[in-house]
Amino acid sequence: MRNDPLSHGLWEKTAPPAPQTETLSGDARAQVAIVGGGYTGLSAALFLAEAGTDVVLLEAEEIGFGGSGRNVGLVNAGMWVMPDDLPGILGETYGERLLDLLGDAPRVVFDLATQHGMACEAMPVGTLHCAVGESGLAQLGERARQWQARGAPVRLLDREETRAKVGSRAFSGALLDERAGTIQPLAYARGLAHAAQWAGARLHTGSRVTKAERSGSDWRLETATGALTARHVIVATNAYTNSPWPQIRQEIVHLPYFNFATPPLPQAVRDTILPGRQGAWDTKQILTSFRWDREGRLVFGSVGALKGAGQAIHRAWAERAIARLFPELKGTRFDNCWYGHIGMTADHLPKFHRLGDNVIGFSGYNGRGIGPGTVFGKSLADLILGRISTDELPLPVSDVTTQSFRGVREGVYRYGAEAVHLLRTVF
Ligand SMILES: Cc1cc2nc3c(=O)[nH]c(=O)nc-3n(C[C@H](O)[C@H](O)[C@H](O)COP(=O)(O)OP(=O)(O)OC[C@H]3O[C@@H](n4cnc5c(N)ncnc54)[C@H](O)[C@@H]3O)c2cc1C
Repeated sequence: MRNDPLSHGLWEKTAPPAPQTETLSGDARAQVAIVGGGYTGLSAALFLAEAGTDVVLLEAEEIGFGGSGRNVGLVNAGMWVMPDDLPGILGETYGERLLDLLGDAPRVVFDLATQHGMACEAMPVGTLHCAVGESGLAQLGERARQWQARGAPVRLLDREETRAKVGSRAFSGALLDERAGTIQPLAYARGLAHAAQWAGARLHTGSRVTKAERSGSDWRLETATGALTARHVIVATNAYTNSPWPQIRQEIVHLPYFNFATPPLPQAVRDTILPGRQGAWDTKQILTSFRWDREGRLVFGSVGALKGAGQAIHRAWAERAIARLFPELKGTRFDNCWYGHIGMTADHLPKFHRLGDNVIGFSGYNGRGIGPGTVFGKSLADLILGRISTDELPLPVSDVTTQSFRGVREGVYRYGAEAVHLLRTVF
């Protein structure tokens, strides 16, 4: 993408091609305009087109250019916020509805991948949230209890079971979530794009929306080379917003996150590290994540930007950390690395906004966007199709709030992660 190897790294090398798309040129019309070609926009485009709606999606760069093409690929069920806290924050109705929807979101993702024959390395085999120390274990025990009370198939593993499932002695336990799994994230975005285009959606890349203005009861969206007029607009630009709705970005603090990938590793190693192929991450604040890709590369990530001094600091940390977790990998070098920006909201919950008459969007997924982006995109389609009312959405309508000191907070994330990785002597 944009010939930058640090933007999408391994995923760009192993994803099947995106569908053929062109830049918007001249004047176009549609019933629905979608701004942003990540999971949210593409899912909305797919479900709208399948219902026979005339829909046009405008993406500034390429399909999956934002978080959707750069992430770890952990298809999670739920948010970072504890399940029992959600009804307290959102009210009983929205809290329970959101929990149900997000708990089921990985199934929706994996079903879509199967239904549309997406070559996106879908592995619905669960995830392992790995406990560091006694406090990490207590935290996961509570999370397990809360999900189990809701009938979710999650299980707290003890130290020995965790050692067998992870292939490392570093963790005091783990939460196995059988609803979840992994995918190749850019391949999934491109798979959604193929499916949406096949269903009749018109997708334009290299088509940044620079201006939005009313035209009677419609909206007119301008790009450098064309204009699109539509009654409804979905704004799906999220953490990568660079659009006429800058308030979306002002509500979000960017948390940088990087990944390093090994070359394909020998079968003997693949048989001992995550032998069940679950995706994994730990309970540390500056967390570590690790997962396999289809060819047996271990993808190893954490908080930080591969920029300036961060490049060398995070690489040196990753080489030390992977060897501490998995001593058999001592001396392993990485041949792909990339990073992106996670969009964090103040309360760590996503938002639904009405940005004008018939202008709607979800944003702020806090690093949990594969399942949520997919099901929220479908909710936006259902709302426009009149299948649900605003009251039946998974989140209430909220005003956009600006986070103060965003630059400072983003600096703290970036340089704080560098300091931690420079000084950390354990993994
Ligand atoms: C490094 C990293 C790791 C992550 N790990 C995980 C994970 O393991 N599991 C998980 O569930 N989530 C993870 N996430 C979060 C997840 O990737 C995002 O929440 C999700 O991709 C958001 O999808 P989206 O469609 O809403 O936005 P995006 O995928 O960011 O798409 C927004 C698009 O809008 C486009 N755009 C912006 N402005 C304009 C404009 N003016 N005109 C036209 N287009 C415009 C951008 O170019 C971009 O392509 C991670 C994110 C990152 C960055």
